[in-house]
Amino acid sequence: MRPRILIIYTGGTIGMIENPVTHTLQPFDFSHLMENVPKVKMLEYDIENIQFNPPIDSSNMNPRHWGEIAKAIEDNYDNFDGFVVLHGTDTMAFTASALSFMLENLHKPVIITGSQLPIGEVRTDGEENLITALQVAAATMPTGEAMIQEVAILFENYLWRGNRSTKMSADNFNAFKSNNYPPLANIGLGITFIEEALYRSPSRRPLKVRYGMDTNVMSIELNPGMTESTLRHLLNTPDIKGVVLKTYGAGNSPTDEWFVSLIREAVERGIVILNVTQCVNGGVHSSLYDTGNCLNQAGVLSGHDITFEAAITKMMYLFGLGLSGETVKKYLNCALCGEVTI
Ligand code: ASP
Repeated sequence: MRPRILIIYTGGTIGMIENPVTHTLQPFDFSHLMENVPKVKMLEYDIENIQFNPPIDSSNMNPRHWGEIAKAIEDNYDNFDGFVVLHGTDTMAFTASALSFMLENLHKPVIITGSQLPIGEVRTDGEENLITALQVAAATMPTGEAMIQEVAILFENYLWRGNRSTKMSADNFNAFKSNNYPPLANIGLGITFIEEALYRSPSRRPLKVRYGMDTNVMSIELNPGMTESTLRHLLNTPDIKGVVLKTYGAGNSPTDEWFVSLIREAVERGIVILNVTQCVNGGVHSSLYDTGNCLNQAGVLSGHDITFEAAITKMMYLFGLGLSGETVKKYLNCALCGEVTI
């Protein structure tokens, strides 16, 4: 049986061409992209495609687009062995994280990739990324089951868990990394899967897509010198339900009375505040210092080693389910699909 793979082309640099007037890169259609990758035909796969109309730069991505990708997967779930999503790199880690929550009981590969250089460029990384993504999406275990049964990002030399990934470089071909989780596969001469790192959903229930993402969440990133009026203003944003507080080091913040009081008052008003470190590696250990413990005392939750991208999309997903603040807090404190180590 030839593997059946659906490519969902959303846009991004991989399919862009230069606008002759402005000289900026702009998304272009899928047929142009495929014309530049004739080698795909050498893979003996049945490949079909769906494309965003129009394809977009991923800086324009929002939860409505995540819903479109999820719908394409849901509608075609039984007819394909795997899915490859072509996507811009800028917000790829957010989309990967969001989809990992939205696609409940996923048992098939959803491999997201793109490139740093457009597919039409001589030195493009797009051709290799696309071909490897297709191979990863088609990979099976000796039992015939899909090797990857989660949302993952394929880029250059690695396959990463989607909800553990972050864009690390605007220049390097190895643009992504998951700083707190090992790669799912190393890509070199061969594709070596790290089987003990792969996620397996404990549920055997059918795929269930959760489309409701509540965008009444925001991030507040601490910086020395942040004023009382700035923080007060941010925490009084109308309708806000959840805040990802990007703290220093192991989850630390100032201990000034005004700072801690504003945070405590927001928690008392029912806002869920999740402590996520600004550091790219490591996590929150908020009882280590007074400067972290003051947040615990004020009712802020530890985000442990979750990425910012996973934290904000997990909050959108949980509030989107219509859960109460208390229940949201409960789920923020457990791993739903391998996004955090607790
Ligand atoms: N701005 C582009 C995008 O995210 C960058 C890329 O694809 O690498 O769509």
